[in-house]
Amino acid sequence: MRILIVEDEKRLAGTLQDLLRRQGYTADVCYDGVSGLDNARSGIYDLVLLDAMLPELDGFSLLQQLRAGGETVPVLMLTARSDLSDRVRGLDCGADYYLTKPFETEELLACIRSLLRRGGETADSGATVFGDLHLQQSTFLLSCGDRSVRLSRREYDLMELLMKNGSQIVSKEQLILKVWGYDSAAEDNNVEVYISFLRRKLAHLRSRVQIRTLRMVGYCLEEAVS
Ligand code: CA
Repeated sequence: MRILIVEDEKRLAGTLQDLLRRQGYTADVCYDGVSGLDNARSGIYDLVLLDAMLPELDGFSLLQQLRAGGETVPVLMLTARSDLSDRVRGLDCGADYYLTKPFETEELLACIRSLLRRGGETADSGATVFGDLHLQQSTFLLSCGDRSVRLSRREYDLMELLMKNGSQIVSKEQLILKVWGYDSAAEDNNVEVYISFLRRKLAHLRSRVQIRTLRMVGYCLEEAVS
């Protein structure tokens, strides 16, 4: 799960990033509204934490532009202002939820879990399913029948993206963006290394699902017919 934090107060942004990472999320930070909008539009985030008062483009305008472009990523707005008119404005602009600073850590994490569940594909909380495979977010466990293996963080991110796309092709570029992010120096061959780790684990699980490589295009999952 990848979360974008758009917050200009650097200390708070850093605190939020640490907090989310400790919970097992991948978290990136933008310090102004313009780069925040750019990143929120990338389609690689599962949730956006959005501050209302931001330099260059405020959170409300950012959100309006994001929604006008058809983006449905869940947005949790954070603001120091608690007036009712602001909360209403945030929700009218397309925020999914609104928290007033200072907020309790537990409340923030509960909101995030709830919004991620709502955005998820399955009713089973935090789990992704494809073919005979079941991937659990809270434990990073990939299971097939009564066998299961624990994935590393990167393996989990890769597998989740592949499972959510199923038989649709995911390009290598999409995988790198989602798993390593924009500011990484990940080379293509890193992806291949991780795909090979995942293939070994799928073989161990005796899953009917296989990762297919489409040369120069990307990867997709394929379920063998038995
Ligand atoms: Ca601010």
